Amino acid sequence: MKKILVLEDETSIRSFVVINLKRAGYDPIEAGTGAEAFEKLKENPDIRVALLDIMLPDIDGFEVCRRIRASDSKMGIIMLTARTQEMDKVTGLMTGADDYVTKPFSPAELTARVDALYRRLGGEDAADSTVIVQGPFRLNTRNRTLEKNGERIKLTQVEYSIIRMFMDNPGKALSREDILNIVWGRDYFGELKIVDVNIRRLRIKIEDDPTNPTYITTVWGYGYKWGI
Ligand code: CA
Repeated sequence: MKKILVLEDETSIRSFVVINLKRAGYDPIEAGTGAEAFEKLKENPDIRVALLDIMLPDIDGFEVCRRIRASDSKMGIIMLTARTQEMDKVTGLMTGADDYVTKPFSPAELTARVDALYRRLGGEDAADSTVIVQGPFRLNTRNRTLEKNGERIKLTQVEYSIIRMFMDNPGKALSREDILNIVWGRDYFGELKIVDVNIRRLRIKIEDDPTNPTYITTVWGYGYKWGI
């Protein structure tokens, strides 16, 4: 099992992360303080990736990152940053983090980042396995990019997550609730309308004729379906 340290003092966020990592096949090791994190790292020398929250009760996540880096250059480190603190990203990367995820993040986004980091660490390297090709579409899950007939389509993170979800479930009718849970996460208490708005925008980008969609079709009274 691939062990991941999850350092986060807010229990609701931590359990959300842990549940989703488990679902993605990882073995999360939990810590609520910096001190606890160092203890867990010592007990589990096979931890290869660490997710570090920044605001912690004892020391901050940057310091944790710095100390891990001081003794281990190979550990994969992802900072969990707050939405508005743009500086956190820079500081985190400066202290040696490999990546950052901005809160609130979707399970799809988090696991995509963790998977990508694992691959970069050489855990499971197969360049080809990161490309999903369906019909005219080519999705690169490493770069999180989409091409249609060889042309790049610019996507937001959410749009990418939606496409990824569809490509993982070809031909399957997905309810709007399913889509909300997969893309935005179960903790997201938004309106279902956000699903429709994003699908509408996505159709404009990927359909040959957005008023007569053939890739993302509507399942009336239920949700949407991906078909090639
Ligand atoms: Ca915190």
